[in-house]
Amino acid sequence: MDMDEPMFVVQKHHATSLHYDVRLEVDGVMKSWAVPKGPSLDPANKRLAMQVGDHPMEWNSFEGVIPRGEYGAGTVIVWDVGVYESLSDKTMAEQLERGHVRVKLDGHKLCGGWVLQRTDSGDRPKWLMIKLDDEAATPDVDLTAERPESVLTGRTNDDLASR
Ligand code: MN
Repeated sequence: MDMDEPMFVVQKHHATSLHYDVRLEVDGVMKSWAVPKGPSLDPANKRLAMQVGDHPMEWNSFEGVIPRGEYGAGTVIVWDVGVYESLSDKTMAEQLERGHVRVKLDGHKLCGGWVLQRTDSGDRPKWLMIKLDDEAATPDVDLTAERPESVLTGRTNDDLASR
């Protein structure tokens, strides 16, 4: 792993509703999308990804319980982490601006090419997260069902909730 490469992290967050916070390091912050169904390795599945506020990089390894009464109250695990590279000639800032981002992920669960395509702007812009059809794509694996655990500790959200 080349430490100069930008990081990505996916935090599985069981708050009021379950979602996966997909975050890409861009210019020192984590650009973030909340993906209710989580990423799919099947290129035919277009997963809704609601852009949310940037996260500090310092929170990338956070795993634990957000107390009741605080924003995002619930459980968080680090569902995947790794590095990524852009698949575009444009900078990440330019790709975000035009609403089309192409990256290659190198994580534990997510690998290969992915596209984020903006479909709706506004306060909470809507995007779609789609697996590119490459050697890391497979329609046969239900990844979120088969791999519910943290890549850091092996724990699930339920493990944290029942402590
Ligand atoms: Mn969240």
